[in-house]
Amino acid sequence: DKKIRVGIVGYGNLGKGVELALRENKDFVLKGIFTRRDPSLIDTDSKVIPLSKVLDYKDEIDVMFLCGGSANDLPQQCPILAACFNTIDAYDNHSKIPDYFNMVDDIAKDSNKVSLISIGWDPGLFSLNRLLNQAIFPNRQSYTFWGEGVSQGHSEAVRKIKGVKYAVQYTIPLEEAMEKVRSGNNPQLTSREKHKRVCYVVPLDFNDTNRIEEEIKTMPDYFAEYDTTVHFITEEEFLKNHSKMPHGGFVISTDINKNNHKQRIEFNLSLENNPEFTAAVLVAFARGVYRMSLEGKKGAFSIFDIPLSYISPKSNEELRKELL
Ligand code: NDP
Repeated sequence: DKKIRVGIVGYGNLGKGVELALRENKDFVLKGIFTRRDPSLIDTDSKVIPLSKVLDYKDEIDVMFLCGGSANDLPQQCPILAACFNTIDAYDNHSKIPDYFNMVDDIAKDSNKVSLISIGWDPGLFSLNRLLNQAIFPNRQSYTFWGEGVSQGHSEAVRKIKGVKYAVQYTIPLEEAMEKVRSGNNPQLTSREKHKRVCYVVPLDFNDTNRIEEEIKTMPDYFAEYDTTVHFITEEEFLKNHSKMPHGGFVISTDINKNNHKQRIEFNLSLENNPEFTAAVLVAFARGVYRMSLEGKKGAFSIFDIPLSYISPKSNEELRKELL
């Protein structure tokens, strides 16, 4: 069978994760990693190519993994690349996904390419589970709890405060709220009732900690609506204990039907390395992109549009044997 020829655009955490995951999936061949940086500075055994040369590879790549950041890279890179390649990305700017989809859809329809957007775990596998829950229990809420894990956005927000050298923020779901949901109630929960936030901060000056703590705890949108604990630690402790990228969470939904029967659906992820897991999801769904493109599909698609059998390397016949 012909291998799926792929490229990676952007070599950060996610790009490295895709490179790693491709090694576990023998139906892919990595043609190159494209970067905006000087390729000689990139430490990998794979072929590294300047991003400015990407269009030369138009006919050599079946699916391009877009691994840039959601805030600035993807809105700029995806339109250019979707004009020439089938693409897959992990765009996670939740409120802007509809606009991003529409922008990419127009371009991919013009270029007869497939662009699968916002793949990963949230958005991604969690979105899929929320959809299942809502379709199966149409009159009930679906609850998402995140963590325990590192939120890059919140960590970044703390790092921007004056006097902060290093910082990491852990989002922690509150057990009591999860138990309320699991028990079959359909509770209304505020942000504060669902999650708490814990920060580990290395200050430039330990005399400055009261001000930094106050600035963190009162930061609107990020911390003001939550119970937040701030720990000040040394650089040594930070590098030793807080350099990992764990994450995960729960999507939970319950129902009590007209026969008074209680039913519960729960999906849980527990991840030691968030970008490496996200990358493994991207690689599976890249098969879907490839198969949809072989069928002549074009435009933007979300995780809801991909038949699940398309993400498996097995044939439909093999998969049917595994239904039982
Ligand atoms: P990074 O910040 O590690 O990388 C983003 C880009 O920055 C890279 O593509 C790379 O581009 C550049 N870069 C990386 N390292 C360096 C460096 N040392 N110096 C200069 N430039 C660098 O982001 P992540 O890979 O961690 O995350 C990418 C996106 O994935 C996030 O924005 C997030 O939105 C998304 N994501 C989505 C998830 C989901 O469930 N949907 C889950 C997790 C993440 P270049 O090589 O061209 O320089």
